[in-house]
Amino acid sequence: MPTLFISDLHLTHQRPAVTDLFLLFLEEQAASADALYILGDLFEYWIGDETVNLEVVRPIIDGLSKLAATGTPVYVMRGNRDVLLGTDFEKACGCQLLEDPTVIDLNGDAILLSHGDYLCTDDIEYQEFRKMVRDPEWQRRFLAKDIEEREAIARTYREISMANSAEKSPEIMDVNQQAVEQVLKEYKVTQMIHGHTHRPAIHEFMLGSDKCRRIVLGDWYDQGSVLHCDQDGCELRGLPLTSPSTRQTSLN
Ligand code: MN
Repeated sequence: MPTLFISDLHLTHQRPAVTDLFLLFLEEQAASADALYILGDLFEYWIGDETVNLEVVRPIIDGLSKLAATGTPVYVMRGNRDVLLGTDFEKACGCQLLEDPTVIDLNGDAILLSHGDYLCTDDIEYQEFRKMVRDPEWQRRFLAKDIEEREAIARTYREISMANSAEKSPEIMDVNQQAVEQVLKEYKVTQMIHGHTHRPAIHEFMLGSDKCRRIVLGDWYDQGSVLHCDQDGCELRGLPLTSPSTRQTSLN
């Protein structure tokens, strides 16, 4: 059975068709997989684990929980949008949170998994922001605020991030090849899978005498995107979004 990898779904009540597609994916494809890995940014934003009980979030938690309960292990890595996913989320969905990076054994190959944002070292401003929101003291102070205030802060950060991104060149916001090579060497692996950049592709390159591979997962905006790996190899596959009319029928 295949192992499936996804990332950058950015689930939000503002794009219900994507949430529906994800729930369908959990019930159909993921239910017959060996394991499901979600490599960051499952949610558009996550301001704390109380969110698991929100009406718009509950179906997602229930879908993950049902999948895990029926025997498909679900691993979740935090992305930059949902860096605050915590143990209450983990318990509610029956998932296992993974540190970034994590090396797994996939059909006998060691593969490094990461959200990927820490490889974007050319974006110095972003790296400073990343360091801040990953600081346990910053997280403690943020989580101590009431929900409305946290939502307001999250909104402000998204606006700042969108404004900053619009001014940056695509190269600056992509991974830095030297950073990629350094991580591969440090973890003594030749393969990695990551998301974050929303540039799905399979890159192959040489590092010394080693043939290396970096697989980039796609986002879930215009379609779903799944990396499907089995004994025969890995393949990036798109999942079409169904039309809004079909969707409304299926919602009822
Ligand atoms: Mn990201």
